[in-house]
Amino acid sequence: MGRGANILVVDPGMGEREGRERASAIAPGSRRMFERIGAWEAIAPLAEPILQMAVMDGGVRDAVRPVQMRFDEMDGEPLAHMAMNDDVVAGLLNLCQRLGVECVRASIAGFAPRRYALETLIDGAPSALARLLIAADGARSPLRTFAEIGTVGWDYGQSAIVATIAHERDHHGRAEQHFLPAGPFAMLPLRGRRSSIVWNEASEEAKMLIALEPGDFKRELEYRFMHRLGEIEPVSRLRSFPLGFRVARRFVGPRLALVGDAAHLVHPLAGQGLNLGLRDVAALAEIVARPMRLGLDPGGPEILAEFERARRFDVAASGLGMDAMNRLFSNDVAPLRAMRDFGLRLVDRSPALKRAFIEEAGGARGAAPNLLRGLAI
Ligand SMILES: Cc1cc2nc3c(=O)[nH]c(=O)nc-3n(C[C@H](O)[C@H](O)[C@H](O)COP(=O)(O)OP(=O)(O)OC[C@H]3O[C@@H](n4cnc5c(N)ncnc54)[C@H](O)[C@@H]3O)c2cc1C
Repeated sequence: MGRGANILVVDPGMGEREGRERASAIAPGSRRMFERIGAWEAIAPLAEPILQMAVMDGGVRDAVRPVQMRFDEMDGEPLAHMAMNDDVVAGLLNLCQRLGVECVRASIAGFAPRRYALETLIDGAPSALARLLIAADGARSPLRTFAEIGTVGWDYGQSAIVATIAHERDHHGRAEQHFLPAGPFAMLPLRGRRSSIVWNEASEEAKMLIALEPGDFKRELEYRFMHRLGEIEPVSRLRSFPLGFRVARRFVGPRLALVGDAAHLVHPLAGQGLNLGLRDVAALAEIVARPMRLGLDPGGPEILAEFERARRFDVAASGLGMDAMNRLFSNDVAPLRAMRDFGLRLVDRSPALKRAFIEEAGGARGAAPNLLRGLAI
């Protein structure tokens, strides 16, 4: 029983760890929401602030890749925080426990409309009646399939290799994004002398790279990582994730709201997928809180239509923006390279444009939901 609402969290992966190779950049808006709901205090000591972001455009074997654009922390606020996915989930589960929210390790196996509710079938547990079912069940969302909601999108033919790398020297909170012809290569600071890498390659190449002998893999990694941080060593499993762009045709169904990757899958080059999902959550919480305070139904069609309107534009704009960036940068065509380098330097010299970029990536621009601005709903 959550305060003011009966909430049941159902997930077959509850309590399982994803692994120390999976980390995410938590944007300032998401961090403020975590602070507001009381989850950040458990995550903060394990997270590393990103104080600077350097963007380079070049070839894999270039001896030097000059910085084309640099962002620094703004108004004393880090650009983002890097946190292990497992630590974020543990912080949120801990919060559920403190609030008395019931969490069940099981799968949702279907649902059927009943009067004023959905009867939700849960594998291995009694079914539950829900006035609102929130599908946060990932890119292959079984709940989206049960609701017969299709998606539009495409595959990139690229995969992202992720790993945690230990290095000899301090990163000083600096993240780097190298735009290489096969796709972006990001180095993101973790606690201590460690960084998370997100290395995009054509899917076939990625498969071959993670199957290499450790010494050969390390050599390939060094070409991309360069030598600014001294000796490097992978200290986690290597995993690769196929990349695609996908948006659900509708974010809602009768008494159903899709959030996170269930609603939209975006390219990870700007570290926005999870943050976009948290923006869905902030918007949905604010929209359903109003009728609930009045004792009204939180799963009614007008409420859900409002959620769809609130999220559609942000999701399309962010997803297509990342898609365009990936297409513009993942190639070695000389005129395109000259044009994009000119663009990067132009932004680099314009404090106003840089501020706009940082605020946009921070996720709390314009009419952002209260939680992302650190306010109560
Ligand atoms: C390489 C890479 C790097 C990334 N880096 C970043 C980053 O830096 N910042 C960022 O913001 N985003 C990043 N992302 C994106 C981010 O990882 C995803 O957007 C995010 O994990 C999606 O979370 P989700 O909860 O929607 O889905 P998921 O993380 O996929 O979780 C879905 C959950 O649903 C559960 N589930 C499945 N079926 C059922 C069922 N039938 N019933 C109940 N539960 C079910 C699963 O067990 C799982 O726990 C990255 C992605 C990739 C691939």
